[in-house]
Amino acid sequence: MSLTDAFRTVNSRLSKERVRASFYPYKELKHTWRASDGVLSFKVSDYVKGVPDEIMTSLAWYLLCRARRKECPEGMSQEYRNHVRTQQFWEARRQLYLSRAKNLSFRPRGSARNLEDVFSYVNSYYFGGVLEKPELAWVRESPRSRVGFYHAPLRILAVNRILDSDKIPRFVLEFVVYHELLHDTVNHVDGVSRRTYHTREFRLREREFSNHDEAQEWLTRVVGDQNRPGRAKGIVPQV
Ligand SMILES: [Zn+2]
Repeated sequence: MSLTDAFRTVNSRLSKERVRASFYPYKELKHTWRASDGVLSFKVSDYVKGVPDEIMTSLAWYLLCRARRKECPEGMSQEYRNHVRTQQFWEARRQLYLSRAKNLSFRPRGSARNLEDVFSYVNSYYFGGVLEKPELAWVRESPRSRVGFYHAPLRILAVNRILDSDKIPRFVLEFVVYHELLHDTVNHVDGVSRRTYHTREFRLREREFSNHDEAQEWLTRVVGDQNRPGRAKGIVPQV
C-alpha cells in the first residue's frame, strides 16, 4: 500500500477535504502537516518507509485525527505508536538515524566532563549499579530545545554539550543523566507527548535526586543564558 493510498482511504472516513502525503527525510521520527487551498498536506518521516500495511494505515489514522483535532477511534492509532517504539523497528534504521545525527558525538570524554564517569556514578548511587550502560553521546544543539534525551529503542543517552563545562557544577550533568536513565526504568504511560512521559510517578522519582532543586535552577539559568525567550520547563524526551 502506498503512503497516499493509506491517507486517502482513512481520510475518506473522516472528511471531505482533500489530502496529500509524501515522505520527508527528517532527522528525527517526526511528521508535519499544513492546510492550504482546501488540501491537507502531510510530510511523513521516511523512517516509516517499508512498514507493513496495517502500520501505515494506523499511522494515517494517528496523523489525520491529530491534524483534524479529532479523537481517534479506539485502537486505530495504537498499532503505529507501539510499532515505532520497538527495538526491531529502530535496529533496522540505526545506521540511517546515526548518519543523520551529525550533531551527536559518541566520545564520552568531553573537554571538562566525562560521561562514562557520570554514568557510573549515577548508576551506582541511584540505581544500585544494575543498569546496563547505554551508548553515551554529547549533542550539540540549542539547550532551549532540550538539555538531554534518551532514545529508548536504540539505547542512546545524549546530553547537551553545553553541560561539558567546569563553570556548571557536575551535579547538574548528573541530574540530566539521572533524568534520562529514569526513562529507562520507570514504567510510563504509553503515549507520545511529553506530559505522558513524565508521569506523576516519574516526577516523584526525579525528586529523589539529592540536589534536585538546585539542579533545576541551574538548568533554567543555562537555558536562559542563551538569550532566548522562555524558561526551561524540564527535560524534553526524544521519542
Ligand atoms: Zn524526560
